[in-house]
Order: sequence, then structure tokens, then C-alpha cells
Amino acid sequence: MTTACRPPAALPAEMPPTAAPTRRAALGALAAFAGSAVGLAGCAAPAAGTSTAPPTAAAPGAGSGTKLVLLGTKGGPRIGGERSNPANVLLIDGVPYVVDCGYGVARQLVAAGVALPSVRQVFLTHLHSDHDIELGTLLYGAWSAGLNQKIAVHGPPGTAAMVRAFFDYMNVDIAIRRADEGKPDPVPLVVASEFDRDGVVLQNAQVRVTAARNIHPPIEQSYALRFDTRDRSIVFSGDTTKSDAVVALARGADVLVHEVIYVPGVDALVRRVPNAPTMREHLLASHTTTEDVGRVAAAAGVKTLVLSHFVPGDDPSITDAMWLDGVRKHFDGRVVVGRDGMVL
Ligand SMILES: [Zn+2]
Ligand SMILES: [Zn+2]
Repeated sequence: MTTACRPPAALPAEMPPTAAPTRRAALGALAAFAGSAVGLAGCAAPAAGTSTAPPTAAAPGAGSGTKLVLLGTKGGPRIGGERSNPANVLLIDGVPYVVDCGYGVARQLVAAGVALPSVRQVFLTHLHSDHDIELGTLLYGAWSAGLNQKIAVHGPPGTAAMVRAFFDYMNVDIAIRRADEGKPDPVPLVVASEFDRDGVVLQNAQVRVTAARNIHPPIEQSYALRFDTRDRSIVFSGDTTKSDAVVALARGADVLVHEVIYVPGVDALVRRVPNAPTMREHLLASHTTTEDVGRVAAAAGVKTLVLSHFVPGDDPSITDAMWLDGVRKHFDGRVVVGRDGMVL
């Protein structure tokens, strides 16, 4: 994380839907982002165009309806660069539903104006560290800030054990604070539930959440998630190579947030590591190229495609145009190149 700059008080809004075309919308959102002087990660975003979109004045949780905030858009566990590690939050009538807990999720939520004790539901798409390493910190941060309601954590098998292990890890501190500060026992406030197949993970008055297994070898328990609320349908691909199950899950959705890799960038990346051939093979077998992301979005007929979980996610030589080129060969709908802090 960059320490030289500070996060903004409020986050920029996405371009309004009337401001087409797609490329301009993506650049406009980015320019609005740059217009707020600093990005959520605390670094100045490069100006990439002219925008008439005003930054939002209020925290993204304000108001009714469903909003998506991209908290971290870089794939992988490596820390650094302008993008934070994978995390998102849906605000459904102001109630936060967190999707994935990469490094920085708690800090990014606070920077986005989301009070940690207000988080009610957390979802993990799979148990790679870039999606779960800060689950415990998020739960602890909520408790530390006054949590007095239950938080539900939904994830693949292993999730409940991870929650238990975290509270064991923090046992000394928690015991001291309970005795010294009169805090409640956090353990019964966190309810972990696991899913291991396609189907409905959660249904309540606000949302139906549906899981579909994607393709992310060698992990078998890896899922895409679809959120249907009264006003929007938003799908997260999770980590996956091109997947027919993701296409089916995302059919007709308003928004598809899809992971993406840029192959020439991957080639440059793996040249720097000792296990290059193995790493390249893993990345190509378990993630989705820009071209295939375009194919998936077109086949699913989504209204807006949001690129996220960028790999490489910290190579400034890869421009928005480079991320978009492959997508554009197959998908002519609206595409947003995701940035930390974007509100959609
Ligand atoms: Zn990942
Ligand atoms: Zn993964």
C-alpha cells in the first residue's frame, strides 16, 4: 500500500448512463476518478480524457437501490502498485454485501465510507489468499468498531475453519479486550456457512445470491456469484478461465464483473520469476484472456462488462486501450476498465 498519499473523503461516480459511448464512459469514469485528486489506494490516477461527470458528494452507501463499489481490482496476492487486491462491495439499500476479502478490504471499505460494523454479509468466491487473506481483519475491524449484530460469512468448504482459526489466532487480544473493555464475545456474532455446489447461496428480502462453479484449476471449489436485487442483477465471475457456467449465470445481467489477464503482460511478468513456465501455464489455464472475456460477455448478453482482477495488475505500461482491444473484438456493449474506488 502506498503511504505517501491519503484516500479521498468521497468516491467518484461512474459516468451517468446517458454518457455513451463505451470507451468514453470508461475514460470518463477514470477522468472523474482523477478529478477527485487521489484514488482510493491513495495515488493520483492518470488523467485519461475529459469528463463532465461530477464526483459523488455523498458516501456510496447513501440512498436506496443497488450500488457496486470496486474496492480492489488487482489479481493475485502481491501487494503494491496503484490497485488493491481483490474485493468488492454491493450496497443494497445501504446494506453492505462484501464479495472477496483480499489484502486491504477493511481499509478500502472505510475509505469508501462503509462503516465496518454495518457489514451484514460476506462472500468468498474461492479460498485463494488474494480473496480471503483479510477476512479475519474485516471481522475483527467490525468487532473493534462496535459490532453488535451478526455477520454471515458464505464461502466454499474451509471457510468455517478459517473463521475459527482466526479467532484462535486473536484469542489473547480478544480475551484482554473483553475483560478490559467489556466488549462482547465476537465468536457467536460471526456465522459461517459453506456452499459446495451450484444453486442459491442466500435469499432474503433484499437479494437472491446464486453460485455457479467456474473453472479455476487446481481449485475445484471456485464459484461465480450472481446477485439479483429488486433493481439490478450483478454477476462476479470469480477467478476462472472461459466458462460456459459463467455465461449461463450471467445471462442478461445488468453488470458482469469479470476477471482478465493480458497475455503479453503475463509473458513479461513470468520472465521475472524463477518458475516462469509453470507460472505461465497456471495463469493461462485458470484465468481469462481479454479476447475470451469479450466472448463471455457477448454470449451472456450482459448490458455492462466491468474488467477487474487484472493480471498483471501493477504494470503501468499496460494501458486501458490494451485491456480493451481484445475485448472489443467480440463484445460491442458497454465496457468499464475497473479502478479501485469506482462506484457503478
Ligand atoms: Zn485471484
Ligand atoms: Zn484464484
